[in-house]
Amino acid sequence: MERSRKICIVPHCFLNANSKVEGPCRYKAILKPLVYALIERNYGIIQLPCPELTFYGMRRWGHVRNQFDNPYFRKHCREILEPIILQIKEYEANDYEIKHIIGVNGSPSCGIDVSCGSNSWKGEISQIENLEDLKKDITYDNKPGIYMQEFMQLLKEDGIEINFIGINEKDIDKYDFDKIL
Ligand code: SF4
Repeated sequence: MERSRKICIVPHCFLNANSKVEGPCRYKAILKPLVYALIERNYGIIQLPCPELTFYGMRRWGHVRNQFDNPYFRKHCREILEPIILQIKEYEANDYEIKHIIGVNGSPSCGIDVSCGSNSWKGEISQIENLEDLKKDITYDNKPGIYMQEFMQLLKEDGIEINFIGINEKDIDKYDFDKIL
């Protein structure tokens, strides 16, 4: 049988929601509508490492982009992306196509079109007098999360062009996968 020779790179949590920050989640384990759409279209799937799990573990708080916008987290992102970049190069050198890289819109790390940010989301939690006021400072900005910024930059440095797709989990049933995949 001929293999499809086409590959899609997906964020870690779309295949394993257990990696997400503790708390409510929109799906139990796998973002099925997206993953089924990839299976039906014969994509091979590469799962990215989760940058937050591999930096802060499972007991992390929910963060915003501004907290991750530091040289240490960016370095960590680059380090865990390096094996992925090598895979991309090897596939592309051998007539395979990495067609899409999918991200998680809204995430401070993995957002593509949108990521959450706040200048005041920092400091000693026990000293915060009004958490509700602090939450109001969070904005959803039209820029990629830090992990995806580094991914885009690494690809650019190697002259590799791949289509990025941002998926908003809460709208997952509204996507026309025939148009975007
Ligand atoms: S950092 Fe990315 S892969 Fe990890 S849980 Fe958040 S959105 Fe998913």
